[in-house]
Amino acid sequence: MADRLSVLLQRFELRARVFHRGLLCGTAGFDAAAGVGHLHLLRCGKLTVTDAAGQRSQVSEPAVLFLPRPTVHRLEADDAELVCASIDFGAGDDNPLLRGLPEWLCSPLAELPGLALTQQLLFDEAAAGRCGHGAVVDRLSEVLVIQLLRHAIEHGWHLRFIEQMPLDAQGSWERSEMVTAAEIHDLLESEFTLEPVPGRGSAPAEEFAVDGGPATVGIIASVSKPFCSACDRLRLTADGQIRNCLFAREETDVRATLRDPALTEAERRSRIAGLFAASTLAKLPGHGINDPSFIQPDRPMSAIGG
Ligand code: SF4
Repeated sequence: MADRLSVLLQRFELRARVFHRGLLCGTAGFDAAAGVGHLHLLRCGKLTVTDAAGQRSQVSEPAVLFLPRPTVHRLEADDAELVCASIDFGAGDDNPLLRGLPEWLCSPLAELPGLALTQQLLFDEAAAGRCGHGAVVDRLSEVLVIQLLRHAIEHGWHLRFIEQMPLDAQGSWERSEMVTAAEIHDLLESEFTLEPVPGRGSAPAEEFAVDGGPATVGIIASVSKPFCSACDRLRLTADGQIRNCLFAREETDVRATLRDPALTEAERRSRIAGLFAASTLAKLPGHGINDPSFIQPDRPMSAIGG
């Protein structure tokens, strides 16, 4: 029987294209318009990575940075030796494998020993420039991505699939192109037995035991079977705004209260508690995606925090 990763990779073809190898000094920006993800492999030097919300992270040891979806980001390199590839999983954002992955993954290579041989071959091949090296580094990048996915599965990262919601930065979501939860379930059930796990509560995912367990897989039917009536979530964005729903069109500002120098600590705490309470009470009964008057919020998912 084929394993679950192989099944998905057979259905959704993975393609990598290496577009940079070698030293990078200065800044390189990447937008989401090309519709591909990115893999950046840092061999040495330093990198500062800035995400779409302006959050900056420093990387100063050999590391892999994997952004599976089209994601706005910027690299500032300080004598960094890098291999950079675009990653296309096929079927764009609608690929259920892609939507089961985090926004980005950044890990020191020292913590990914299973990738050591591939990344060494990749760097060697990129530096040697022998005939056919372009195709070889592309294929090695694809192997590296599959090994990253395998690492995620083998280390107990919980696999969940979620229906695509109209929270994309491009505003190009189309219901007719969405892979539904029922289709995901049928696809998985063609290879595995899935038994519903009871006790969902307010969790977004319906959990299924795979082949009798203990492994489970979750399917989130956010559009076709909304679970808003059980939702107990608020989100605090990186710029200090409370959002009481992913699809909220209004936000509650906490940052100004946090930074107000005129407040005592007790006043600040009391006001922040009041802001959270008011935002909770204003929570709407549902996201309204299925309502003809639905308007997509300005913030895409990557700027909210999933
Ligand atoms: S209420 Fe909003 S945040 Fe909660 S489940 Fe529905 S869409 Fe998601």
